[in-house]
Amino acid sequence: MEELQNCAMRQALQNPAILQEILQITDVSGKTSRLVSHLWNEITLSLPDPKLTLLLSEKSESSPEEKVCCYATPFQLLCINMPPKLARSIRENGCQSINKHSRTQRIRAAESKLLHISGQFAQLVEEFAMTFTDRDLIPTVKYPDLSRNGAITWMLLEFGYMKSNKIPSCTGSHGLNQMLDQVKDHLEYFEMESNMYELEDSPSDVDARIGFQFPQMKNLEEFRNNMLDCFSCGDHLQDICTARMPALEILHITKRDNTVDDLLRNIITKQDLFSGVKNLRLENVRNPESITGLKTAFPNLETLSIYQFNADESSLLMEVGPHLQVCAPLGLKYLNLYLSNRHEKLSEFVQGFLICGELLPSLKTLEIESFSGVSDDLDLVVDGEAQMKQCLLELKGLENVMITGIEFKEETWKWVESFIYENKIPIVFDKTCYPSMAKDQFILHAKKYRNAEIISVV
Ligand SMILES: [Zn+2]
Repeated sequence: MEELQNCAMRQALQNPAILQEILQITDVSGKTSRLVSHLWNEITLSLPDPKLTLLLSEKSESSPEEKVCCYATPFQLLCINMPPKLARSIRENGCQSINKHSRTQRIRAAESKLLHISGQFAQLVEEFAMTFTDRDLIPTVKYPDLSRNGAITWMLLEFGYMKSNKIPSCTGSHGLNQMLDQVKDHLEYFEMESNMYELEDSPSDVDARIGFQFPQMKNLEEFRNNMLDCFSCGDHLQDICTARMPALEILHITKRDNTVDDLLRNIITKQDLFSGVKNLRLENVRNPESITGLKTAFPNLETLSIYQFNADESSLLMEVGPHLQVCAPLGLKYLNLYLSNRHEKLSEFVQGFLICGELLPSLKTLEIESFSGVSDDLDLVVDGEAQMKQCLLELKGLENVMITGIEFKEETWKWVESFIYENKIPIVFDKTCYPSMAKDQFILHAKKYRNAEIISVV
């Protein structure tokens, strides 16, 4: 019997279709599975979602101290010897040792690598991530020529710290506009991100100088742009509207230096502008009307995430209650609030739920994270316990509620916990209040590096 099972297992593991299914979902390292046999190697490299990402600038695995980022030879040797399918997913992180490698060396190495991608792998690349960590490099960068590519579906452009006047114009040959035009029919995911940058001149001057033009993309499903100050998509985001991006369902928009209120003010007057978008993430919204009005432009919105950082005292949108109020007309199923409340106390937090009237009627999932923490003062206020219980009962109709950041006192938590249990309220309190930025970075990280397993050049 055991022999039969072993035999069946052996046969299954030699069947390409079954093996592909297994390798796609298993945790087994792609590097390891490549070593099992020629068949396993071939299947690992041909999985529908690339399991390995080729990292072009990484320290040597054999001697970790040595930074090989700006030497052309190891990379060129790799290009000659490696299975071409390793180039399905490529990540270029730029120079890892700016102090040791001269500016000329950095620029030459980057150009040489991007030229190689254009020349040797252009037809194969499906996932491409490029990080501009090197300020010197940015003004001179030439984007790879992907005109022969028909496979690229996923692209991330990440800019490190820089000033807006260093961002090169997107026009011309080897400019960003040209590269995007080359992949416009295939791209499904596109992200432009920067941790921070400084706007050197007025947004309209930056916009005019950079000249970013987003081509019409029929297959783009997810677009994240937190650099709208520099890479503008029109004053009411008309360049990425559903008419031009019919497949677009997930949209993340942020401006680093500003709120998005002015943009939203323009958008919310346009009927059905984003009729295809179901999932929207906004950062730094100050005007409640900017959210209440979203229904006109986003009639099919299901999920809304709002991240509020650095709100000043005059902002009307800081606490939970006003957010729930303004979201009520949107008919949302999922609402995520990440709030940097300045001083929140639990009694105020609870009040927020009680003043908003009926909790969003269509809501199934609510996630709230207060990343400056909410301190428990229920024992110090009149009716604290009764109000908390009423608040919990309000949440009973939902399917999932997750609240992070409340630091319950031990005695409060005792009755809260049993009240939740007795009333079968689907709520989870994550008592550990960890900095939301870190968590958020982790989520983004997971998406960005979804092929986390990387192959280094050496
Ligand atoms: Zn280097």
